[in-house]
Amino acid sequence: MTFAATILTLYPDMFPGPLGHSIAGRALAEGKWSLDAVNIRDFATDRHRTVDDTPAGGGAGMVLRADIVAAALDAQPQDRSILAMTPRGKPLTQARIRGLATGPGAIILCGRFEGFDERLFDARQIEEVSIGDYVLSGGEMAALVLLDACVRLLPGVMGAASSGDEESFESGLLEYPHYTRPQMWEGRTIPEVLRSGDHARIAAWRKSMAETDTRLRRPDLWERHEGARVDPPSGARREEGRRT
Ligand code: SAH
Repeated sequence: MTFAATILTLYPDMFPGPLGHSIAGRALAEGKWSLDAVNIRDFATDRHRTVDDTPAGGGAGMVLRADIVAAALDAQPQDRSILAMTPRGKPLTQARIRGLATGPGAIILCGRFEGFDERLFDARQIEEVSIGDYVLSGGEMAALVLLDACVRLLPGVMGAASSGDEESFESGLLEYPHYTRPQMWEGRTIPEVLRSGDHARIAAWRKSMAETDTRLRRPDLWERHEGARVDPPSGARREEGRRT
């Protein structure tokens, strides 16, 4: 089964864009995932191919019409999750990305202007997702971000590197810091432990760095991580036992 991405957008030419390069681009060329960018404007019904209208209640900007977007959506095979990129959506997490990457793919709605007519979300099964607490001018770059995060997790795309669970967020912690040659740079050395060849010590150092950095940089993540330890589900308690 190939991960299939369908993008509904007013700017289909923005795809694959950056996803045509590097790891994602190679995987796309190799058929490890597929991409279909559909122009919402093709589903407009009037001579001017109108997709938006002024906001009910007044105010600035334009709103994407529910009837036009729904027509574009309903024309797609209904075999995958439907996501809409919106700043009002649920913040995207690595766990959700992993869930998507193990599934059949996604249909992704990209907004423009002031966004979508709200009735669209009542009328269809659509998951609203946000990529962070800031406002973009359109959903396309948010969709690219989401897809990049999914594609690198697909089988055979990154090899062993991405399957490891040591990366940032996979364990609820940030990852430990990395170093490489030269050994000495601007008077700074690589931490001695990483040159020791002692794998147990290295693992212990990395774990402690991951914990310290998470606590200092992302107290919100740390609190959640600690909360999970204090009141653990039965599976996590075994984990806790190994720790001591
Ligand atoms: N008026 C809206 C913002 C619209 S921005 C509001 O204040 O909530 C235009 C489009 O950009 C949105 O429809 C959405 O598709 C996209 N977008 C903007 N910020 C985003 C974010 N943080 N995450 C995901 N999509 C976003």
